[in-house]
Amino acid sequence: MTVMRLGMFGGTFDPPHIGHLVMAEVARETVGLDRVLFIPAAIPPHKAGLSISSGEDRAQMVARAIAPYPAFSLSRCELTRDGVSYTIDTLREVRRQVPYQDAHIYLLLGADMLAQFGAWRESAAIADGATLLAAPREGYELSDLITRTRAQFPNVDIRQLPMPPLDVSATWLRSRIKEGRRVEWLLPAPVLEYVEKRGLYR
Ligand code: ATP
Repeated sequence: MTVMRLGMFGGTFDPPHIGHLVMAEVARETVGLDRVLFIPAAIPPHKAGLSISSGEDRAQMVARAIAPYPAFSLSRCELTRDGVSYTIDTLREVRRQVPYQDAHIYLLLGADMLAQFGAWRESAAIADGATLLAAPREGYELSDLITRTRAQFPNVDIRQLPMPPLDVSATWLRSRIKEGRRVEWLLPAPVLEYVEKRGLYR
């Protein structure tokens, strides 16, 4: 029996954009993922206290962004759990779900998140339980970060995703939308339609 390969992609997704989609698709192609779960955080630990769109709006936007990709799905598991969303809790919860019990789990994260990884709750348990797939990001030396992560977690399985750094962030997108500037090449049309319909980021 071949083992299922499952990607876990957590984020704020406020809004989801091409950086997220490129990462997920390159990860799927590179390691042959059977499924990628997009998991919007209820309250991301590093964003507690900041104002973010509602979980429902972010889930709706993710659903619209991934609709054309049969291997991608939305998981509401962090949104339905109370309080701050910790990846270790999500990893354990996903592991309890059918058909993921015996899956090999791959955690997708950008270089900015890898830079903080050592400070995540139970990071050693995450490093033991999942392969890390790290994406380059403008302003971060990904190969140095990978070396540092291997030094800190000697058993970690970590790989660099073969993609160029895409200099787009949700923060930049939100400020462009607020200023009424064009963004339509940075996020899927159905996501932008939802943003406009709901008046988000204005
Ligand atoms: P914000 O600007 O609001 O902080 P963001 O664009 O970084 O948002 P998140 O939803 O916080 O988006 O990111 C989810 C995951 O996707 C994180 O692991 C982040 O590092 C990664 N990511 C987001 N944008 C990119 C990008 N352009 N290149 C590589 N990784 C990215």
